[in-house]
Amino acid sequence: LTTAEQDVLDKIEAEGVDFLRLQFTDILGTVKNVAVPARQAEKAFTEGIYFDGSSIEGFVRIQESDMRLVPDPDTFAILPWRNNEDSAAARMICDVYDTSSGEPFEGDPRRVLKNAIERAEEMGYEVNFAPEPEFFLFEEDEDGNATTETADHGGYFDVAPKDLASDVRRDIIDGLESMGFEIEASHHEVAKGQHEINFEYDDALSTADNVATFRMVVRAIAAQHDLHATFMPKPIPKINGSGMHTHMSLMTEDGENAFHDDDDEFNLSETAHSYLAGVLEHAPAITAVANPTVNSYKRLVPGYEAPVYVAWSDRNRSALIRKPAARVPAASRVELRSPDPSCNPYLAFAAMLQAGLDGIEQGLECPDPIRENIYEFDDAKRADYGISTLPSNLGEAVDALEDDEVIYDALGEHVAPKFVEAKSQEFEEYLIDVSDWELDRYLETF
Ligand code: GLU
Ligand code: MG
Ligand code: MG
Repeated sequence: LTTAEQDVLDKIEAEGVDFLRLQFTDILGTVKNVAVPARQAEKAFTEGIYFDGSSIEGFVRIQESDMRLVPDPDTFAILPWRNNEDSAAARMICDVYDTSSGEPFEGDPRRVLKNAIERAEEMGYEVNFAPEPEFFLFEEDEDGNATTETADHGGYFDVAPKDLASDVRRDIIDGLESMGFEIEASHHEVAKGQHEINFEYDDALSTADNVATFRMVVRAIAAQHDLHATFMPKPIPKINGSGMHTHMSLMTEDGENAFHDDDDEFNLSETAHSYLAGVLEHAPAITAVANPTVNSYKRLVPGYEAPVYVAWSDRNRSALIRKPAARVPAASRVELRSPDPSCNPYLAFAAMLQAGLDGIEQGLECPDPIRENIYEFDDAKRADYGISTLPSNLGEAVDALEDDEVIYDALGEHVAPKFVEAKSQEFEEYLIDVSDWELDRYLETF
């Protein structure tokens, strides 16, 4: 065993952990667990734990259904909502291996992200990502089902007594901190019942792990308060939806911020400019992955602080990419504002990163920033500035993904076709459905 693995065994002993949840995600980003008695930890490290992957969304064909989970000891954490005096449960995030080849399973989203990170490393970069996930807290009805009634009536940065949900948020933050999260800030968002909790940036893989864990913890702790936490991008029409802005930067091998340049007007290096240009170029295809639900496109509309136009800015927030002001060189970064928290963070980060790396590799020229409010442009002015729009629905986004070799390849041979198939089907189901809106509008009129 490695030292990290031995440390885990010691912690299991010291903390009286009796169950271990071995965690991984399917293609859609849903967290899956295999629970094993804690005494199997050593075996999990040395041999892995076998499971049947045929029932996991997008994993394998039936005939090759045996998968092996190997836990990453760095991800060991005690589950805060399952911790009491005489028993505790812990989790570890796992890599998935193909039992027949013994190789990492290419259908594992975590693998897809690792491939992207390895490419960055080959180019001489370490990758840092930081997300800003937003979510709503809703009340449950008598039967414990989620409603869309908000549990509070606060607004942006409001404090108690209006923000009744701040207790819940405190508990969520305590839980996250006990699992090793460094919380940067948390606040009530613009919409009522909407919250945002930001955590410290980390390498891209840890950040994707953190997003998966974050959603699980937020839901579990909200449920303890009889509230339903949702990461659905647009649960209520005509008010802000929930985004997951993602800040990105690259570091050189000697720990310098590769995105910073003192002499540049925007303090962005040439590397950063090309990275940014790559993300802009591949933005339509990235959208399929970073905004993967039918509902995601109800958020990406003008008027609710979500991006619609493919442009960047160092001044205003109407653009897809923002260059936040950085107080120190180490903090130079770019913020992609389109992702929403319904995405699979591993796949979304892989797509975003590969887009940026492609920009660097091709030495793409970055367009000028747009400093005016793009929402006030008419079509002609937008065309004049060369500003295109993001896909307006999941179908268009999936088409863009299929047309974009770089992003399609970023997902890999296994995940890309399965992702396209799942999402095309989802969109088709939506198209033939008849919604409440239609019934309200037409049933009695015609
Ligand atoms: N909720 C907004 C969105 O849908 C973002 C608000 C903000 O934090 O700037 O992206
Ligand atoms: Mg926000
Ligand atoms: Mg932001």
